[in-house]
Amino acid sequence: MSRILYDGENQITNDYRAGVHQGVDVVKKWYQADAVIAHSDGEVVLVQTGMTNSPGSTGNASYGNFVKLRHEDGYYTLYAHLNTVYVNKGDKVTKGQQIGYMGQTGNAYGVHLHFEVRNQYDTRIDPTPFIDSDLPVASESAKLSYQAYDNVKKYWLPNVFMGSSDYAGNLGNAIGGIYLDKYRMRVHDKVKGYWLPWVESRDDYAGNLGNDIDGVQIEGVTYRVHIKNGSWLPWVNKVDNTSQGYAGIYGSSIDAIQIK
Ligand SMILES: [Zn+2]
Repeated sequence: MSRILYDGENQITNDYRAGVHQGVDVVKKWYQADAVIAHSDGEVVLVQTGMTNSPGSTGNASYGNFVKLRHEDGYYTLYAHLNTVYVNKGDKVTKGQQIGYMGQTGNAYGVHLHFEVRNQYDTRIDPTPFIDSDLPVASESAKLSYQAYDNVKKYWLPNVFMGSSDYAGNLGNAIGGIYLDKYRMRVHDKVKGYWLPWVESRDDYAGNLGNDIDGVQIEGVTYRVHIKNGSWLPWVNKVDNTSQGYAGIYGSSIDAIQIK
């Protein structure tokens, strides 16, 4: 048993290379398949199933069947190319629990596990030091952050730390998208007049870049928005269908967001 394989000793078949191969490929010693286990206690935040082998595929499809876990200190681990997945999104898992079985779904040229470690910004880091040891401890300075897309300047504004007195936005310029670490969020598209799909962590942003946003919902935090040519609206700390369950005024463009 290793920290990621149920039965055997790890054999690394392809190393991490920044920007090229952002994980490590692992098989059980002597090139055998094995069940895959949770590296640490955590929660299943993303699962993809039903995938077949598809060499050359990109994006999430390249992972094939995969499981992504979020751990206590905010770090993530991801297990790709699985043949079978044993867990569901939202499940709590414990260190050593079987979460799937190795396969070659997605962009894989043989049966192996592609293992990733991501920091609290969902940025992939070199997993090699952590394959058989604890994940890094998130430092005080490495806080969660968010950022907004300026629809006028047409670029992403700098990241802002959650809980700081800063906000994301350029007052006077409506925003068209929001990236947010860790928390579930969705926005209301002012042009289309409806709520866009929920997004999770930094895998995606909420918004239609270029279309103004006139409503925001974020689970688990306290947040508020600023109305273009207007003022800050009250803080919101819940998500529901009432007028207190989102931040915004339908029909009024938002030009800044602040998250505690
Ligand atoms: Zn790989």
